[in-house]
Amino acid sequence: MQVDLLIVGQGLCGSWLSYEAQAAGLRVCVIDAPQPNSPSRISAGIINPITGRRHVEVWMSDELLSHAQTAYTAMGDSLGQSLIRQTTLIDFFPSDQMQRSFQDRIAQKGKFVSLTEESQIKHLPFQQPYGAGIIDPVYLIDLPGFLEGNRKKLMRFDSLFEEPFEMERLQVSSDHVQYKDIRAERIVFCEGTAGLSEHFFPGLPFAPNKGEVLILEIPDLPREHLYKQGLMLAPLSDGSWWAGSSYQWSFDHPHPTPAFRNETERSLRSWLKIPFRVVDHRAGVRPATLERRPFVGFHPQKPRVGVLNGMGTKGCSLAPFFARELIRHWLNEEPIHPEASIERFSGDR
Ligand SMILES: Cc1cc2nc3c(=O)[nH]c(=O)nc-3n(C[C@H](O)[C@H](O)[C@H](O)COP(=O)(O)OP(=O)(O)OC[C@H]3O[C@@H](n4cnc5c(N)ncnc54)[C@H](O)[C@@H]3O)c2cc1C
Repeated sequence: MQVDLLIVGQGLCGSWLSYEAQAAGLRVCVIDAPQPNSPSRISAGIINPITGRRHVEVWMSDELLSHAQTAYTAMGDSLGQSLIRQTTLIDFFPSDQMQRSFQDRIAQKGKFVSLTEESQIKHLPFQQPYGAGIIDPVYLIDLPGFLEGNRKKLMRFDSLFEEPFEMERLQVSSDHVQYKDIRAERIVFCEGTAGLSEHFFPGLPFAPNKGEVLILEIPDLPREHLYKQGLMLAPLSDGSWWAGSSYQWSFDHPHPTPAFRNETERSLRSWLKIPFRVVDHRAGVRPATLERRPFVGFHPQKPRVGVLNGMGTKGCSLAPFFARELIRHWLNEEPIHPEASIERFSGDR
């Protein structure tokens, strides 16, 4: 089998890379051993332009939001399904200090933030002693639909092999790469946290971050918004609610813990005024990085080998943007954003 691009991994990164490559006329082949707890399968699919306790804008918010909206709409059209929904996040302040921080951001003419009127939120079934702000727009991606739609499309073209990638079977030469009976122009690794021990890019400064979530039934909660009070509540495409998540830089194992479940149920009981039922409890590890910037590019000495990884907490917006940059870099020699390009580590090698 002869292709232009061999991709390892079909999470957010591998799916977007295969899509962008095919859109540029390249033949692709993807190797993926699906893991039920990979972050792309656990994520809520939220694209939120505001982050942190000081309500600051995320890195490259304008470019990333605008690209995500266009890209998920186009991919949805190509798959015959709707993948992206524009919505708003109602951010209930947990303290007067957080309320003041939000008001300060508005006073500084911060984008995406505004205050709510009491009449807008008083019907919502939450304790709300300090009121709430609105973050608008926020996008919600149907990740199960996205991953499954891509998987089926690749399957239709015999371009997906669901099996573990065996590094020892890969041969990289100056004019091609060979993996079993697949000959390709280039290979790109999109393995998420499995890429930590990756053979070709061993020094990349990953900082894996564990996240746990509860999946809930809350039949009486209006589904048109996302809600937050420390904890985020997001409506999923199957009718359930996603409640999470934790951010743990230090952990002994990647599995769900009773401590998270107990603490989250306790928080929900003191915030929500209506009943809820826990239907699942999941955990995954984000491919986060020390400088909170992705790893994108081709190996400086072995340019037939590339990486698209390190999307951290923002894979939904970063993966489509940087998948396109990587393909354009290859085909048109366009630059990769210097804060994301792995060329930034060239001096250290
Ligand atoms: C709890 C939680 C909540 C999150 N919420 C959000 C959110 O709301 N919004 C957002 O933007 N981001 C969120 N994220 C982050 C986001 O999920 C990640 O940034 C993103 O999923 C990373 O995608 P990836 O393709 O790099 O990795 P992965 O999702 O890990 O995909 C890698 C794929 O490669 C496969 N693979 C790995 N090694 C091999 C091998 N050797 N052979 C074959 N296959 C292999 C894996 O099985 C997997 O299918 C969240 C993450 C977590 C854990």
